[in-house]
Amino acid sequence: MSEQTSAEQTGSEQTGPGAPKGIFSKDLLDACISCGFCLPACPTYALTGQEQSSPRGRITLMRLLETGDLAPDDATLAEEASLCLGCRACETVCPAGVQYGHLLEEWRDEQWSGLKRPWIVRPLLLVANRKWVLRILGLVRRSARKRSGATGQPTLMLGCFERGLFPSVSRGIAALDPDLAVDPDQGCCGALHAHNGELEQGRDLARKLGERLPGTIVTTSGGCAAHLADVIGRERVVEASEWLLKKSTGIGTETDTNTDTNTDTNTDAAPAQRPLCVGLQDSCHLRNGLGVWKEPRELLGRTATYVELPSAGSCCGAAGTYALVRKKESRAILAKKIAEIEAADLDLVIAVNPGCLRQLQTGLRKSKSRTKAVHIVDYLRGPKV
Ligand code: SF4
Ligand code: SF4
Repeated sequence: MSEQTSAEQTGSEQTGPGAPKGIFSKDLLDACISCGFCLPACPTYALTGQEQSSPRGRITLMRLLETGDLAPDDATLAEEASLCLGCRACETVCPAGVQYGHLLEEWRDEQWSGLKRPWIVRPLLLVANRKWVLRILGLVRRSARKRSGATGQPTLMLGCFERGLFPSVSRGIAALDPDLAVDPDQGCCGALHAHNGELEQGRDLARKLGERLPGTIVTTSGGCAAHLADVIGRERVVEASEWLLKKSTGIGTETDTNTDTNTDTNTDAAPAQRPLCVGLQDSCHLRNGLGVWKEPRELLGRTATYVELPSAGSCCGAAGTYALVRKKESRAILAKKIAEIEAADLDLVIAVNPGCLRQLQTGLRKSKSRTKAVHIVDYLRGPKV
């Protein structure tokens, strides 16, 4: 998206009642032709059946906010700004190329500014803002260690909460690709900020990360990949499955076929000595924002019996902070997903984003499922060495 501010694009010469407020970029808001093609793709429209909970309905609300016909404290505005998953499924079916994800970022920048931000999000942003906290988190949880990597090779992005929640992922990709450089002093990419009402801070953090890590950056988080690519350029960002597919000519050979699992949280997951039956949960931003969906399927198809879940491309309800801010709706979306996984009788369901992984693990544990959720890097790494 252009770095031009929304106020500049809105046209500041207009004043008085009905004049644009400068909350949204004019070209983004004007792009919608209200055709409604996006409605069937929207999970929250499916949940409520209400026009206001659809992409088209929300864009109408944004326009009313922009013209001042709805006050910023309007209850419907507040409700819909938080009910939206931000999954960007609407973008993939839109004939007008509406960049809904960017509109939502601008909306929340207004709607969730300062004290209007959901209280539960605030401590997360504080943690992500502090590099020294992330550094300690990585040390305590033993994420990948510092190393220089091979000349001209990418650097690994460690992520914020992945360092604390799933440290085996960074260790795993560092083991799979010994040429990757690791810099433990890197900060947050700012995706969390950009999606939760701190848009400029989110972009600033991404720019700083791009300056700190030279050349190509490999990330194990689909959500972070999309945000980082948006700010520093797609050519500098590679998601883990893209990278491993490009590098890993060995993956999928007979001796490499996975018959066991390896994660810090999966020790008894699968019956050994037979190819695993695995499914995938896409990362919404990776699939809908960066168009990466074939690569993880290719890797899984080479190493196991791959089963395409009917809703693999739809949101699991994690959606960044959504599972914290909108618990009821998040659980409703997850329940359908878990039922689908159970019906497929999978050994493993693979995630390409730490938030999705956390969400699936929680749902599968609560339903006492035999299926385990695993990050694709942990899965591909295979048994621990
Ligand atoms: S967002 Fe796109 S698909 Fe949806 S109503 Fe607007 S133009 Fe149509
Ligand atoms: S981002 Fe997802 S939940 Fe929000 S309007 Fe688009 S499809 Fe619906």
